[in-house]
Amino acid sequence: ADAAPGPERIAVYQAQRDQAYQRRIRLARDLRYAAQYKELSAVYQPKLDLASGEVRQVEALMRWNHSELGPISPDEFITLAEQTGSIGMLTQWMMAAVASQLRNWIERGIHLQVAMNISARDLDDPQFPQRIEKMLQAQQISPDYLALEVTESAVMTDPERNLSSLRALRDLGIELAVDDYGTGYSSLATLKSLPVQDLKIDKSFVLQLAEGGDDAVIVKSTIELAHNMGLKVIAEGIENSHSLNWLKERHCDVAQGYFISRPLAVADLERWLDDTRGSFGVVEPT
Ligand code: C2E
Ligand code: MG
Ligand code: MG
Ligand code: MG
Repeated sequence: ADAAPGPERIAVYQAQRDQAYQRRIRLARDLRYAAQYKELSAVYQPKLDLASGEVRQVEALMRWNHSELGPISPDEFITLAEQTGSIGMLTQWMMAAVASQLRNWIERGIHLQVAMNISARDLDDPQFPQRIEKMLQAQQISPDYLALEVTESAVMTDPERNLSSLRALRDLGIELAVDDYGTGYSSLATLKSLPVQDLKIDKSFVLQLAEGGDDAVIVKSTIELAHNMGLKVIAEGIENSHSLNWLKERHCDVAQGYFISRPLAVADLERWLDDTRGSFGVVEPT
């Protein structure tokens, strides 16, 4: 049997815990200056419309390149921002970045819808829908150029509380998606009561589609149920052609994943759009 941890083991454990704690303190502090120091950027990942083979939408994803620590994962810094109250500021930064990018694209005849991720804390703020509206108006962008993705856990933790914000956003004409669907505990029936149009199936169910098994059953029935409820289905985490074809055959609406493209900086995305036109099995109209 294992002996009880000796003093050395405990010392190592405490040192690791202290280190993790110090990192949190530092990142939480530095995050407040990240925008000012121009350490934030937005990358865009294409979403493939499976029926037409066209890319009409991209998802905006935030990147933080810390001047000393290098790139920090969004899973780390977004969570930290939600816990320490700086998420509102990050969302504002992202909204401004997305709005000016949309303006630029529209002026150049590039018509893409951009989906932006928001957190539950954003929905708590009663001013949020209005701020989005003002930002779109300031850049003269029609609301149908914007979609917002809210994680299942965020909308479902307190659907009552989030409902008025979601309704206000929907009334503006903004498309709303439930992100990471399947990781929370909601029923599709509960979701149906929310003013959302899209269901985004979490990548954890899509990554192993090729192996069949439970995930394939879950994804298949989720697509069918969502369609019966009039929801558009988006799958994320498509890493191979098998998953892509599998989803296409089962009438999933939109696919996103490394097999199609990784998230890209603007210049790379524009090049990718030019290069891959029609290369996902659909002939471009002439
Ligand atoms: P998400 O919104 O579910 O975004 C999808 C994540 O999956 C992204 O990770 C994306 O890079 C990654 N991904 C895309 N295709 C594949 C694939 O084929 N395989 C695998 N393994 N992963 C894939 P990323 O960029 O690291 O972002 C992680 C999460 O951080 C996002 O999950 C989102 O919840 C959050 N996040 C990112 N940017 C923002 C933001 O601006 N605001 C907020 N509130 N959250 C954000
Ligand atoms: Mg998302
Ligand atoms: Mg997701
Ligand atoms: Mg996620």
